[in-house]
Amino acid sequence: MGPEPEARCHLCGGSLYRFDSFGARLQVTSDCRPWQAGGRLAICETCATVQRPVDAAWSAEAEAIYAGYAIYDQSAGAEQQVFDADGGRPRSSRIVEMLEPFLADAAVDVLDIGCGNGGFLRALSSRFPASRLSGTEFDTRNRAAVLAIPGTVGFYTGGFEVVPGHFDLISMIHVLEHIVDPVSFLRRACQALKPGGKILIQVPDRAANAFDVLIADHCTHFDLDSLRRCCRSAALEPALLTGSVVPKELTCIVTPTTVPVLGGDPPDPEAGRVAVTHQLAWLDRLAAHAREAASSAAAFGLFGSSISGTWLDAELGRSAAFFVDEDPSRIGRRWMGRPILAPADVAAGATVFVPLIPAAAARIAERLGGGAVRYEIPDTE
Ligand SMILES: [Zn+2]
Repeated sequence: MGPEPEARCHLCGGSLYRFDSFGARLQVTSDCRPWQAGGRLAICETCATVQRPVDAAWSAEAEAIYAGYAIYDQSAGAEQQVFDADGGRPRSSRIVEMLEPFLADAAVDVLDIGCGNGGFLRALSSRFPASRLSGTEFDTRNRAAVLAIPGTVGFYTGGFEVVPGHFDLISMIHVLEHIVDPVSFLRRACQALKPGGKILIQVPDRAANAFDVLIADHCTHFDLDSLRRCCRSAALEPALLTGSVVPKELTCIVTPTTVPVLGGDPPDPEAGRVAVTHQLAWLDRLAAHAREAASSAAAFGLFGSSISGTWLDAELGRSAAFFVDEDPSRIGRRWMGRPILAPADVAAGATVFVPLIPAAAARIAERLGGGAVRYEIPDTE
């Protein structure tokens, strides 16, 4: 066998521009475990999609990550809360609310790809009790929990080929960014739709959240334009595509189309390259800022016990003495061997660094700061 050919864009086959400095940074897994440096990040010079070059090395890495996968470990399996002005709510209940105008009141057949421990199916079941629900996962560890959800009629391990029947709605929540060939994956999903059926796609928005590029097992780091292009390549047209349902994420409802859809801005790989270079520089400045804050603090903690907090703690050589979280299912537990504290339980005089995008960090500091605890926020991007 000769050498492996250079990976090309897994959406359009175009050549890839690689961000050479990327491999120096530590990474994190999508289930929030620190992960080794040495990753590769690229942007397609044709369709401007930011992605991991998918080759034998990346595939082996992703396989190693999934072998140890433990979703929502910080909260003992409870779904991640999404916080905004209305307070915290599970992501699934927001998505189900958004779906209401798109689903008829009559019973619907739903297939949730990558259903995890059933968070989304549970939310659907309580809002649409007449629905017939099915879920898929890559192993059977959550089988009993999923089948116990009212209305659930099937649990499958494997791809579309093992799932019988056709569906009014196929949901893929935090799935598509893991798929090495997302266009053919979406095409296969179309074949499992009933006439008039819809696909719901939920992915992280790389453009809204620089930390997304650090996630080693996300092979596509979607933004609004690249998600739209991906759907259109699979002959799917968005009926809804928005970043306003869940912060830092894209929500998309697509339907099959037989007519090629034109329009939209042409891809701009050069602008994408500049934007990602800018995001990487911001992450480096953030780490340097936090390192300095840690070295001068009486007691140093990190806000959040998810992707960004876990990554930054590893970058700082595990120098956080504690984590701070507002999610009640996490408070009082331990993360990376250190306590997760409620904001009210942080000792006076401590410094808490907030590794979030600047707008979100500023809101946290405004809400929680001003007392005896110093909340340090990153510089603007
Ligand atoms: Zn491409």
